Amino acid sequence: MNKFSFAGIALLLLASLISVSCKKDAASTSTTTTTGTAAVPDVFKKFNSTVTISSDGSTITLKCDGVPDHKSCYFQNTDSRYQAYNGTNTAFSKNPNYISTKSYTFKIPASPAVNAAHEATPLGPIGVAINGVPIYNQYAGPNQPLTSEINSFDQYNGHPDQSYSYHYHVEPLYITLNNTKSALIGFLLDGFPVYGPLENGKTLVSADLDTYHGHTSATTDYPNGIYHYHITADAPYINGSGFYGTKGSVTQ
Ligand SMILES: [Zn+2]
Ligand SMILES: [Zn+2]
Repeated sequence: MNKFSFAGIALLLLASLISVSCKKDAASTSTTTTTGTAAVPDVFKKFNSTVTISSDGSTITLKCDGVPDHKSCYFQNTDSRYQAYNGTNTAFSKNPNYISTKSYTFKIPASPAVNAAHEATPLGPIGVAINGVPIYNQYAGPNQPLTSEINSFDQYNGHPDQSYSYHYHVEPLYITLNNTKSALIGFLLDGFPVYGPLENGKTLVSADLDTYHGHTSATTDYPNGIYHYHITADAPYINGSGFYGTKGSVTQ
C-alpha cells in the first residue's frame, strides 16, 4: 500500500464516520418529535384550569396542588374557604388534620389498555378528579374498610389524611352537584375515566358493574365506547379489586 492509497482509505473512513453521525442526528431529532408535545384530548378540557395538562402522545401528564375548589371544614378557620360542617351525616366527626397545598404529577396512558394482571390499587392517590383532588381507594389502611373514616368526610365527601393531603374515597359531591350525577368525575391512573352514579337515567349500584367497578359502553366523551368506572353509593364506591388497565404513575 502506498501512502496515496492509505490517504484515500483514511478519507473514505472519515466520510463514512460523518455519514453515521449525521444519521444519528436524524434519529435523535425524530425521537424528540415523538416525545414532544401532542394535542391533549378534548375530554381533558373538563378539568379545572388549575390543573396543568400536557401530552407527549403516549402519556397525559396532569399537575395539580390537590386543594379542593370548594369550601371545607378542613381549611384553617381563618381561611376564607373554611366552612363549618353543614352536611347530612349526624355522626360527623372531624379528624385532626387540615388541607395543605401539595404538588402532584399524575402520568396516565393516553391510550388506556386492559391489563390481565389487574394490579391492586395502592393506598394514597389512585386517580385524580377534574378539580385536581386525588382519588383514593376503598380502604382506610391495608384491607381496612372505610367504616369509621366515612364519618370524617366533610360536606363534599372529602377529608385530609395525616400528611394533610385532601382526597376523595367516594362521590365528590361538589362535582356531581355542579356537573350532574352522570358527569365525568376524573381518571384513575390506568387512564380509564370515572363517571358519576347515574347512567341513562338509572342510578347504578356495584352489582351493575364488574369486579373492577366498571363496564364498557359509549359515554358522552367517548361516543365509540370505552371501559369506564362508575361511582356508586355502596362499597367499593369507585374501584373494585384492582385497576382494569395498566397503571401510570403519580409523584407528590
Ligand atoms: Zn381518606
Ligand atoms: Zn357506564
